[in-house]
Amino acid sequence: MLKDKVAVVTGGSRGIGRAIALTLGREGAKVLINYRGNESAALETLEELKKGGGEGEIFKADVSVEEEVEKMFNFVLEKWGRLDILVNNAGVTRDNLLIRMKPEEWDQVLDINLKGVFLCTKAAVRIMLKQRSGKIINISFVIGLRGNIGQANYSAAKAGIIGFSKSVAKEVASRGINVNVVAPGFITTDMTEVLSEEMKKKALEAIPLGRFGSPQDVANAVKFLVSEDANYITGVVLTVDGGLSI
Ligand code: NAP
Repeated sequence: MLKDKVAVVTGGSRGIGRAIALTLGREGAKVLINYRGNESAALETLEELKKGGGEGEIFKADVSVEEEVEKMFNFVLEKWGRLDILVNNAGVTRDNLLIRMKPEEWDQVLDINLKGVFLCTKAAVRIMLKQRSGKIINISFVIGLRGNIGQANYSAAKAGIIGFSKSVAKEVASRGINVNVVAPGFITTDMTEVLSEEMKKKALEAIPLGRFGSPQDVANAVKFLVSEDANYITGVVLTVDGGLSI
């Protein structure tokens, strides 16, 4: 149970982030649902959270912009006075083959998927160091371990998250802060809806459990890692991929 805990979920308005926000809410945490542009999706998620008896707020901030990130964490402190859980989930793709990839596509993906994790983690750790406790979960992707055609930018960012998380886990462990990575495989969300039928078929063939994951599959792993049951776990990469990475 996460009663009296305060959580921030970046990109908590849709897809995997929504499932994580709702799951933490059901466990009793107060949840800040961050989003960048789609306010109606964020409000829908908040409504669902409240229907389930949870407490939360929505907050518009681009995780790649330092001032917006600072405002978001100040809001959390003003509203609830503490921060126990950060889930760095916000992410985007701008797929292209390397030879066609524009520097803007590289920058956008690295800024949101990796710099965003750096900025939010830094802001959260500042609060958690004082509390001498906290749980940080960074959402990577198994292609950060395996690579993928057309996703050099995205897999570089997702691999970067792993090195970043392990370094920070070492830096903050003595202050009671755990930092772990969840690396999903193919999960059914808006992000995977855009894949061609051929790509989906190919991906499915490579998954031993024979199905795409659901956002809830990922949320369940996050729920475990932010719980007291995972107090002795830090610096790990937990794959949630139906066996894809075996
Ligand atoms: P999604 O359905 O496209 O949702 C993305 C979320 O991120 C939305 O809430 C979006 O908010 C938010 N977001 C995007 N850019 C942002 C920014 N600059 N600042 C703040 N929020 C931002 O994505 P998803 O499939 O759930 O993926 C969530 C995470 O899981 C990502 O990190 C992704 O890389 C990772 N992942 C996904 C899969 C998969 O198969 N789907 C697999 C492995 C890992 P707005 O709608 O307001 O823009």
